[in-house]
Amino acid sequence: MKLGEKVQSGDWKQEKHLPVIECADAAKAGEKLAVTVSVGKQIAHPNTTEHHIRWIQLFFQPEGDKFTYQMGQWEFSAHGESAQGANQGPAYSEPTVMTSLTLKKSGTLLALGFCNVHGLWESAKEVKVGG
Ligand code: FE
Repeated sequence: MKLGEKVQSGDWKQEKHLPVIECADAAKAGEKLAVTVSVGKQIAHPNTTEHHIRWIQLFFQPEGDKFTYQMGQWEFSAHGESAQGANQGPAYSEPTVMTSLTLKKSGTLLALGFCNVHGLWESAKEVKVGG
């Protein structure tokens, strides 16, 4: 058994768990690239105390590089918990992240998201980086 065998993928337009990576297809080397990663863009994922997206991580795999780089990780901590009970709280974290990256090489952005009941989900987006 390998962890990768348990990471699910697919089409985010049909599967609500898939992280959606949005950014320009091409960037200039060394310039900031704005990136948004979200879960539930097309089909909303539940956001309840019992069932929610707990975290998203973003990685970069440079073309031709053996190794993968972690670019960030974000936890979503509020899901309606409160002293009054589950789903009675005043606040919910939404699984949307806006960040920016500076890349020197072309490669692939890889997002990994975790649903507390439906496990791990991944998606990818290529970025061309030029001079
Ligand atoms: Fe789920």
